[in-house]
Amino acid sequence: MDIIKNYILITSLGLTYFVFASGVENDFNITEVAQGNYLHKGIHVSLDDINHDDIANIGFIVGDKCIAVIDTGGSIDIGIKLLNKIKSISDKPICYVINTHVHFDHMLGNKAFIIENPEFVGHQRLAAEVERNRAFFLDHFKNDLGPNPEPSSIIGPSILVENSRQLDLGDRILTLIPFPVSHSHSDLIIIDNKTNTLWAGDLIFRERIPSLTGSLIGWIKVMEDLPRLEVKLVIPGHGNVAKSMAIAIKQQRDYLQRLLNETRQAIEDGQFVNEAVEHIDKDNQSNWLLHDFQHPTNVSRAFTELEWE
Ligand SMILES: [Zn+2]
Repeated sequence: MDIIKNYILITSLGLTYFVFASGVENDFNITEVAQGNYLHKGIHVSLDDINHDDIANIGFIVGDKCIAVIDTGGSIDIGIKLLNKIKSISDKPICYVINTHVHFDHMLGNKAFIIENPEFVGHQRLAAEVERNRAFFLDHFKNDLGPNPEPSSIIGPSILVENSRQLDLGDRILTLIPFPVSHSHSDLIIIDNKTNTLWAGDLIFRERIPSLTGSLIGWIKVMEDLPRLEVKLVIPGHGNVAKSMAIAIKQQRDYLQRLLNETRQAIEDGQFVNEAVEHIDKDNQSNWLLHDFQHPTNVSRAFTELEWE
């Protein structure tokens, strides 16, 4: 397979090492944010930036028996970099690749992990969502899908999560919880029970403006539900790790509530969507990065959701 060309496997003294042919892997940040939980932090650039495939927080959790990967980045190239980084840290097998939702920046790297033969795990709606997005991904992100992009370059789930369930990595249990329509139609969170670390996917954005593709009302409800989880560390889908849920969700909860209140007001005032976009949160009161890039889309989606309520 062509992706194997990117690294050379050397076995020496019974240990497995990977030598990075490209030499760029040092640029690929990885931090152990909690014992056995390794995070690669995405960068805050827009989707037309050359590094748009590296915007999401992705990573992996190492158990005694095996490893679970959590999201694989926005291209096969990012997936390969993550795989190489994993191999430089642990020689345990990768038993699961978990996708937190269907968006490109979290799952187009899946193909890099096929050679590890893991189970691909996602929300019960993820398989259908992948099918719904396959042509769109091929059209819009073909340069992120390797030298010969084809429909099979996009890897969907082999295990669907309908209700909360657990995965055993060996002396380390992960709890997976699927959510109703909110940020997207396929949001799934992962808790590492051993360290009480939450991998929230894009149910939580920090610094970078949230991207609404599911339901605003549903997402605000999730903001009320998340604080019931007793976790010590929160890893958002984008932005900095937070030491408490209160810190993690404050900026986003304020923004979503403002979006709801001001969109409802605009509709009540008889505004059209293009007028509403001009007025709602025009001062970026929550100080989001990339506000101008994403906020108008959020307003228009909120408007569509709320205009018939
Ligand atoms: Zn994302």
